[in-house]
Amino acid sequence: MNCRHCGSPLQHTFLDLGFAPPSNAYLTVDDLKRPEVYYPLKVKVCDQCWLVQTEDYAQAGDLFRADYAYFSSTSSSWLAHAVRYAETMLQELRLDSSSFVIEVASNDGYLLKNFVAAGIPCLGIEPTKSTAAAAEQLGIPVLREFFGEGLGKRLSIEGKQADLVVGNNVLAHVPDINDFVLGLKAVLKPGGIITLEFPHLMRLIENTLFDTVYHEHFSYLSLYTVCRIFAAAGLRVWKVEELPTHGGSLRVFGCHADNARFTEDSVANLLGEEALHGLQRTETYLGFQSRADKIKDDLLAFLIEQKRAGKKVVAYGAAAKGNTLLNYAGVKPDLLPFVCDAAESKQGKFMPGSHIPILGPGKMVTEQPDYVLILPWNIAEEVQQQNSALKKSGSRFVTAVPEITIL
Ligand SMILES: [Zn+2]
Repeated sequence: MNCRHCGSPLQHTFLDLGFAPPSNAYLTVDDLKRPEVYYPLKVKVCDQCWLVQTEDYAQAGDLFRADYAYFSSTSSSWLAHAVRYAETMLQELRLDSSSFVIEVASNDGYLLKNFVAAGIPCLGIEPTKSTAAAAEQLGIPVLREFFGEGLGKRLSIEGKQADLVVGNNVLAHVPDINDFVLGLKAVLKPGGIITLEFPHLMRLIENTLFDTVYHEHFSYLSLYTVCRIFAAAGLRVWKVEELPTHGGSLRVFGCHADNARFTEDSVANLLGEEALHGLQRTETYLGFQSRADKIKDDLLAFLIEQKRAGKKVVAYGAAAKGNTLLNYAGVKPDLLPFVCDAAESKQGKFMPGSHIPILGPGKMVTEQPDYVLILPWNIAEEVQQQNSALKKSGSRFVTAVPEITIL
């Protein structure tokens, strides 16, 4: 296989998690009677442009099915993050009713609704039917397509270039990253701004966040690599911010390469930090597997120890990262009888691979477990606050990544 950005042969494996079903392929009772499709889950690193990428195995269309269950609006902290972002951009870019904002992967409208409320014309692009329908209910026009250079050029010809193009947690999810970035270039007005948020590879490596690796996530990105991909498309990263989301994300600000805007110091500073973290050295990537294995072993040891001691452990949050962790560790309902999740679209279904049932949060209260393993550790704070009564009655909360921690 060759690198999806620069075409160099990929010679180094960053992480091999064996085989797993797609992380968002939640199963119904009927699905349990059928065979389940497992794909290899192996991540390679390019020693030329340092793009960390999943090995080729299937088309994106198989993964982002019409009933794709992730609704952004389920997380209150993510909604608050979107409100703050919209307020800042409305002010800084002085957007008004003559402006145009496009969000790629607009999901259920969690972000664009803030621009609609401010009277800014918007367009969402979202191939997943269920979330696109939810956004339309909020009055957001949605184009139900995959984004790339073809669609970007078409919108441009239709006079729909944007002052602001937003893409949150989508850059890492696209199979053809060059085509996607060329699409951003095509749909951007001459003086327009792009902002993209994605988990930062430097933090993934630093904190061994191996459970954020799943099939739908094709790329694991450093600022260095994104700058290269932007440059190859005629774009330039002129500013970068570090965000706490997803264990450490970046928000990069892009513009056309020939835009008069200065590149701010934040870009050179973070590129320097990435170099200090060894992101342009092969050895940095080769040491990752053994650290991931230790987390897996420690989780299994914890679950077995509690079971032998007669303690009850359940999980909270049927998130994609939970599926990676549980499937790599081979955890089944004998060790974790159920997972609670607030999203009604997931309740009554089963986790892919592990077949652990997903129930409403009320089940946790009636069961009074000794431990609640929070799978989406990035919202551990929020989960504890929402379930403070459970904590008062003696249940303890636990996270497994980057190490087993009783909160
Ligand atoms: Zn490459």
